Amino acid sequence: MPAQPPYRRVLLKASGEALMGEQGFGIDVSVVDRIASDIAEARSLGVEVGVVIGGGNIFRGVAVASKGGDRVTGDHMGMLATVINSLALRTSLIKIGVDAVVLSAIAMPELCESFSQRQATQYMDAGKVVIFAGGTGNPFFTTDSAAALRAAEIGADALFKGTQVDGVYTADPKKDPTATRYEHLSHLEVLQKGLAIMDTAAIALARENNIPIIVYSIHEKGGFGDILKGEGRCTIVAD
Ligand code: UDP
Repeated sequence: MPAQPPYRRVLLKASGEALMGEQGFGIDVSVVDRIASDIAEARSLGVEVGVVIGGGNIFRGVAVASKGGDRVTGDHMGMLATVINSLALRTSLIKIGVDAVVLSAIAMPELCESFSQRQATQYMDAGKVVIFAGGTGNPFFTTDSAAALRAAEIGADALFKGTQVDGVYTADPKKDPTATRYEHLSHLEVLQKGLAIMDTAAIALARENNIPIIVYSIHEKGGFGDILKGEGRCTIVAD
């Protein structure tokens, strides 16, 4: 009999760039479909899933600020990009029969529901995949921080950070063949070593709320499910 996953409820953070596949910009629907199928597998294992998606495949606020524009407006544009990505993921999930809802930190009732912690937990209790759009709803934050925040709010047992590689390495494994993967790190070690897993605000929030961060490759089909089953490669950040 397959072992029961150790996690009952998780928050998955995917960067916007994960959605663009081989393209240099935007959304590759086949990649979103694949991520949706990984989430479907997690649901079939009985794990409740919340998702935060970034917007970097479409827009980042710093792009405006770096050209002398208003950072706050740039960040608003970035947050809107996360809504586009969230709607894309919901579409892919619904297509394969996974009940999913988008809750946005910025009210846009014609497109999706607004975020509230109570509504989010009710939907998750009912087995829906909840996609948290609009980041934190505030400029000067990132979707990493939004992921740690929502993970704390929904009482997630773990925060899954889907990245380009299968964990945290001692050096960039694409450049340094001697780089080795950490099996385990504490939140404090991540902060002290300055390891760029997520921004420091996100790590600190996860640490304060005792939420383990699982760093794994979002590009491996079935990778999410494998780790939920206690298989697969990853780095676990936990105190
Ligand atoms: N953003 C923001 N507040 C938030 C989350 C995101 O202002 O709480 C904006 C910010 O401009 C950011 C952009 O949305 O650059 C896209 O988010 P992020 O860079 O985190 O996306 P990712 O790198 O994960 O694709």
